[in-house]
Amino acid sequence: MSTVNSVTTDLDAVVVGAGFAGIYSLQNLRNKGFKTRVYEAAGGVGGTWYWNRYPGARCDIPSLQYSYSFDETLQQEWQWKNKYSDQADILNYANHVVDRFDLRKDIQFDTRIVSAIFDEDHNFWTITTDAGESVTARHFVLATGCLSTSNIPEFEGFDDYQGKAYHSGRWPQEPVDLTGKKVAIIGSGSTAIQAIPAVAELAGHLYSFQRTPQFTIPQHNEPLNPEIEKQIKSRYATYRDENYHSPFAQEVSGNFETNTFDVSDEERTAEYERRWQMGGFAFLVAYADSGSDRVANETIADFVRDKIRGIVNDPALAEKLCPDFVYASKRPVLDTNYFETFNRDNVTLVDIRDNGIERFTETGIRANGINHEVDCVIFATGFDALTGTLNKMEIRGRGGRLLKDKWAEGPKAYLGLCAEGFPNMYVITGPGSPSVLTNMMVAIEQHVNFIADTMVHMRANDQTRIEAKLEAEEPWVAHVSELGHTTLFTAGANWYFGDNIPGKPRVFLPHVDWVGYVEKCEDVVDKNYDGFSLA
Ligand code: NAP
Repeated sequence: MSTVNSVTTDLDAVVVGAGFAGIYSLQNLRNKGFKTRVYEAAGGVGGTWYWNRYPGARCDIPSLQYSYSFDETLQQEWQWKNKYSDQADILNYANHVVDRFDLRKDIQFDTRIVSAIFDEDHNFWTITTDAGESVTARHFVLATGCLSTSNIPEFEGFDDYQGKAYHSGRWPQEPVDLTGKKVAIIGSGSTAIQAIPAVAELAGHLYSFQRTPQFTIPQHNEPLNPEIEKQIKSRYATYRDENYHSPFAQEVSGNFETNTFDVSDEERTAEYERRWQMGGFAFLVAYADSGSDRVANETIADFVRDKIRGIVNDPALAEKLCPDFVYASKRPVLDTNYFETFNRDNVTLVDIRDNGIERFTETGIRANGINHEVDCVIFATGFDALTGTLNKMEIRGRGGRLLKDKWAEGPKAYLGLCAEGFPNMYVITGPGSPSVLTNMMVAIEQHVNFIADTMVHMRANDQTRIEAKLEAEEPWVAHVSELGHTTLFTAGANWYFGDNIPGKPRVFLPHVDWVGYVEKCEDVVDKNYDGFSLA
């Protein structure tokens, strides 16, 4: 509870969202003596892992890294089953953490925050729920996730369609029985590539509606090797620290000294084969220039296309599955038997690259002049990333200004964390921070630590207001874009730019240099919150 100018707020901090960012915010802030409450629209914790229950949903960061590092006993005690965990295991973990630290009592479920209004005379936020309840808090923490607003494109005739339809990111809580059903999956991104092999095992027939084929690398998931677990846990804190200081905030087997054409064709192919067998995101860092030079990058694309041709039996079908964009200009994907699945008799690729989906009908989806009759459609059509959820709320900062209006031409936030005009408000893994280009757990912990330490600093100095300066925010936004354009992440149409959402301003959203980002944040603090004004 805070008091300033004789105003006492109900809470020190309101946190929106009980995914991994919200859970750790609550744990950390409460630990530091801040009265905190979390509001969560869902009926349980877990965020992404609460909602994305589609068949095949799995994390593509190894379990021993995709977990909290803030508590040594927690990380030693918890036992993961697999090298990469599925949705159910990750959700169990989220629930375990919440119960272990007795956090549930401070989380209000089934409650959506609809507005937050800043009182600039007394430096606090009034936050209102969809039930009309209002609370006041000095600090307002948005732990709303990067991929939490589903994108369902508009299709002609959708209202006529009589079958079932689900978006992957709003999968029902009750079981969905796809056994023997005719199922359509629209999309070929990370989600569809996980769902297609899993659904093909269940469905009578699966139609994969593919507009853009994707590069994907085998994940090689397996039960967690007890020897590797023992070895990592024997030096867990050091291992975490090494990853914290590594590109993308994870263990990378990177070759940052040699360029692609410094080696012979044979040597390079052998290296790519080694990385294909290794799985994970190993290709992005195969050579120093893999992610920045188009010609170098093309050797990866050629290698993966050859793999596809080797896996898919029908040569014409294999060509349809071969991507023709720059590798990693769309988010790289990991799979389990994705291309193999197209050899099954019960799977049909519907190539909509040229004409798209014509329309929905009462019985299914019409494309290329054919009505594909289905019982169920799965929209694996992605998300309004990073800004979608924030722009849906009425967030008013100084002078009653709407965040959505400030961000009309693209999001602006210093360090991707704090927006000028919106004091005491923090976006965890927000646009302009490394967020989706990292191991999210590490990025979340870094941001939450920054916020909690800032609040401690303010309390110690009797300060009640922190705000990003415009003269710091503007260059930051330009820097994020410039840095992005030194890489091939920006070399194509991509949700990193908002290209998947009609009308969304085209701005490159993530900061590509995790290591540089962390150093910058440390420097900001060392220089007494350089770029912020504190009052
Ligand atoms: P996505 O990468 O945005 O893919 C959406 C897919 O839907 C694309 O293939 C897109 O085609 C297609 N699509 C969109 N609108 C369409 C339309 N009108 N007609 C036909 N096709 C359409 O979404 P996602 O697969 O859900 O993945 C989003 C992000 O979530 C990932 O990049 C990743 O960061 C995260 N994720 C992670 C995991 C994991 O950890 N394993 C799993 C799932 C998701 P175009 O390419 O032609 O636009």
